[in-house]
Amino acid sequence: MLDFLGSLERTHLCGDLRAANAGQQVVVMGWVNRRRDHGNLIFLDLRDRSGICQIVLDKELTPDGHLKGEQVRPEYVVAAVGKVSLRDADAINPKMPTGEIEIEATELRVLNDARLAPFSPSEEAIQNEETRLKYRYVDLRRPEMQRNFRLRHEITLAVRESLSKQGFLEIETPILTKSTPEGARDFLVPSRVHPGEFYALPQSPQIFKQILMISGFDRYFQIARCFRDEDLRADRQLEFTQVDLEMSFPRREHVFAVVEQFCAAAFAAAGVTLTTPFPRITYDESMRQHGTDKPDLRLPGLTDVRAAFTDAALATLQIDPALPVVALRVPKVGELSRKEREDNHPLFDKKKGAKFIDDFKRLAKSFPEAATKVRELAGAADEDFVIVVAGDPAHPVKASDTKFEGRLSEREINVYSAAGSFRTELAKKYAEKHGAFVVTENAVQNADPRSAGKAIDGSAAFQPIWIVDFPMFEYDLASGKWMPAHHPFTAPYEADMANLISDPASVRADCYDLAMNGLELGSGSIRIHRKDVQQQIFQSLGMSDEEARARFGFFLDALEYGTPPHGGIALGLDRIVMLLTGAPSLREVIAFPKTAKAIDLMADAPTTVSEQQLKELHIRVALKS
Ligand code: ASP
Repeated sequence: MLDFLGSLERTHLCGDLRAANAGQQVVVMGWVNRRRDHGNLIFLDLRDRSGICQIVLDKELTPDGHLKGEQVRPEYVVAAVGKVSLRDADAINPKMPTGEIEIEATELRVLNDARLAPFSPSEEAIQNEETRLKYRYVDLRRPEMQRNFRLRHEITLAVRESLSKQGFLEIETPILTKSTPEGARDFLVPSRVHPGEFYALPQSPQIFKQILMISGFDRYFQIARCFRDEDLRADRQLEFTQVDLEMSFPRREHVFAVVEQFCAAAFAAAGVTLTTPFPRITYDESMRQHGTDKPDLRLPGLTDVRAAFTDAALATLQIDPALPVVALRVPKVGELSRKEREDNHPLFDKKKGAKFIDDFKRLAKSFPEAATKVRELAGAADEDFVIVVAGDPAHPVKASDTKFEGRLSEREINVYSAAGSFRTELAKKYAEKHGAFVVTENAVQNADPRSAGKAIDGSAAFQPIWIVDFPMFEYDLASGKWMPAHHPFTAPYEADMANLISDPASVRADCYDLAMNGLELGSGSIRIHRKDVQQQIFQSLGMSDEEARARFGFFLDALEYGTPPHGGIALGLDRIVMLLTGAPSLREVIAFPKTAKAIDLMADAPTTVSEQQLKELHIRVALKS
């Protein structure tokens, strides 16, 4: 028989009780984490979101409570009434914050029973993830998950507070709207009222936030849900949350300052200090030094080792002399056997027209000086594993040469990025050996969100960097045309505007990315605020005037009614939380995520719908049987 809550009122949270509470009469409520039956004494570990405390049911003190204690099982919901008492010295559990006390119950109410779930929140080992997602309500009871979402809350709150203090207004934008181009597929929602017409869920609030600038709000932000129908990865979900902002009359410096301030506040909320201002690197330099536009500064960069090779050596090694020759270094890996090296080969992206040399012994046999010089240039210690990556003349990639003074060509970028992604993959694989990520793991473990004012130094553990000066256009192999590389509202550099049509390869975009520890945290730009420029960009996307009008007519109109120069950025909130919790996947920081197959296992979505619903929506499903 279950008991009613009646007029019973909770006095304390389980995890808050300490020795100082000894002697007090308390009422606690929660879930039975574990139960131990010692005959006349039954011990219940009672759990709520604050932690766990021990309840003692003594047959003499509470025969009725003891009887109920015999019946309760893990995850039953109970209320315990009793007195806090100090445990005997030998019963103190130093591992539990409440380990010095227990509650001598005088009454136990069983508020609800519980079916046996396939796993218990008290288990520490990670369960089969599908089961965790199906029984998400049980999974979310786990202390680790409770901690993730508490932290998420603190971080979100800090971001809101910081932006509000910096003069930003939080304004909501529609979910049922029109397509916003962010490079993904739209989710469409059929209109019942307008047969054959569809709303799109926003890929971002981009157009609306720009219109809010036209509307004179000056500084807008939103913790905004975005929807993008793309393939899922550990750091990608169909719907995710951005800290989205836009401001009027800014230069990018102003955007950076705003972001650095709210990021510092977010990290401080998690107990970590971030050093500001964040360093910057141009896109070209980032490619040269790291082979990626989201560098992980905890790892050694790439080194240009072209000088280590004579032209004759490059010819013998069949290396393209016109392309970069770089070395990557994985510290402390030691020498790898042939088998181990071969196991790593699938990690190299062969589609980039690049090749690699990872057999240093062999290189040293034919080109001893080159081999020594490469290691010297790369600053490699004896136990560091070094690989040379270079252009492969046998597998050239069809790509453009931008021919723009001081800019990297597409083919150079290909070689750098082959080296960069090989470096990232190997760094992941040999993480235990080189230990470069340990500093972050330690920071995550030691940071205490509640220790306000005593935050730990995060400068080595969390390394943000701005990437600036991206090219405005990318060469599209399929069409042989230069296409905008960013969303079409990104402004070109004012100084490069004259070359938009005549020399697209030379035009830089006034946009910026923020990366941290190899993860892209966000991107933004100064926007186009003139209709003529906006139309040119739509044209360069191959969009006719009619198509541009059909898709963005409202926006083009708005641009004509007094648009201030404006710019902004959006940062992935889930990713920030992922970094600060040390979670391996976004699914650990989103309460109800989808699986890699885009399924909500708990709610069982997506599903078919009734004929009636389809009819109302004027939709007929054409499925091949
Ligand atoms: N809307 C952009 C995005 O979602 C961010 C921005 O340009 O502000 O990536």
